[in-house]
Amino acid sequence: MVYVATHNPGKFRELRAIFAPAGWTLAAYEGYQDAAEGDRSYAENAALKARALFTQMAHSEPTSVLGDDSGLEVAALGGRPGIRSARYGGKSMTWAERRAQLLGELGSRKRVERSARFVCALHFIARDGTETAAAATYDGWIAHEERGHAGFSYDSIFVGDDGRTFAELSEREKNRISHRRLAADALLAALGNRACG
Ligand code: IMP
Repeated sequence: MVYVATHNPGKFRELRAIFAPAGWTLAAYEGYQDAAEGDRSYAENAALKARALFTQMAHSEPTSVLGDDSGLEVAALGGRPGIRSARYGGKSMTWAERRAQLLGELGSRKRVERSARFVCALHFIARDGTETAAAATYDGWIAHEERGHAGFSYDSIFVGDDGRTFAELSEREKNRISHRRLAADALLAALGNRACG
């Protein structure tokens, strides 16, 4: 069993499906208290979250934990929203408002000026305290309007390789190609044959 340091149901669902073929069983820890995220790097935030959960679970059976930090970077906006993706425009904004703000900032720019990428950093701490990190990106662009109803957060405005937004993909299709999937593959490769639990 691997406990995940997140309260984001969309991320948790995806991670659980992505790691299942490797034999990992992911679980949420009800009592997880979010680590205060910094503004420095995805890798650092993923590590902060994993270490916070590892510490919070120290009273129970030794267990392994996974921290995840991710974000959307839009080239024409100097990489914004980036590491502040979840808080972009202020915490009180709804996701529809956040997406509308981003679309508004890009206005009618052409496709070539709408390049963007999703970034995902993962940080795994094994039961014995050994730490392993991995990260990956997925390049795409920002649509001119929202499309699709699947996924979460920025999925309906992020266009992938085949011209569909991530919200127009089934969860299975997204999990086959996404930044989260690529980071998971990199983490599993880094761990090699070491058991997860
Ligand atoms: P955090 O990792 O909890 O700080 O939040 C990451 C934020 O990045 C999410 O709340 C979304 O805003 C954005 N994000 C990361 N991955 C995805 C994704 O797969 N789809 C849509 N938005 C994402």
